[in-house]
Amino acid sequence: MPTSKGRIAQPQRTDLILLCPSAYETDSIYKYDYKEYKRLLIHEMVHMFHEHLSVDMENIARWFSEGLAVYLSEQYKYEDEFNKPVIDGIASNKIPKISDIIDDVMLSYDWGWTLVKYINDTYGFDTVLNIMRNCGSSDVIGFIKEDKVNFEEKWRLWLFNLSIKSK
Ligand SMILES: [Zn+2]
Repeated sequence: MPTSKGRIAQPQRTDLILLCPSAYETDSIYKYDYKEYKRLLIHEMVHMFHEHLSVDMENIARWFSEGLAVYLSEQYKYEDEFNKPVIDGIASNKIPKISDIIDDVMLSYDWGWTLVKYINDTYGFDTVLNIMRNCGSSDVIGFIKEDKVNFEEKWRLWLFNLSIKSK
């Protein structure tokens, strides 16, 4: 029995504890979808690899670790839960400040992947990996030696040209 009805995948050190899909009907609020489930597993495994590789997992920025998991699992491409806040935010020109994303749990889940994708598209995946391994603080932008104002400006411009869904 899950401790929480929504809890279906729980990383525990080197193990990933899963609620069996056949139990969902009665023991979970989660609705099983094969592709969605696969992305969820990748999301959790990204966290596990990140934890394993990172020099200091305790101090990593939440937006970076959640953003990385949403980005690499491609949840942002297919699931409204992950891309709707961003699509709506861009459409209504309500893009949060990076300083707010850093401080706010909800915003770091919603917008973190755009920052990770921006870093990947701009600096390459080696930079993403470097952050993953070696950035032992919440100051990811300082770690890649970027000016915060400049980085934020370019990320905002990049957002307006972002196309998410692969049609
Ligand atoms: Zn996560």
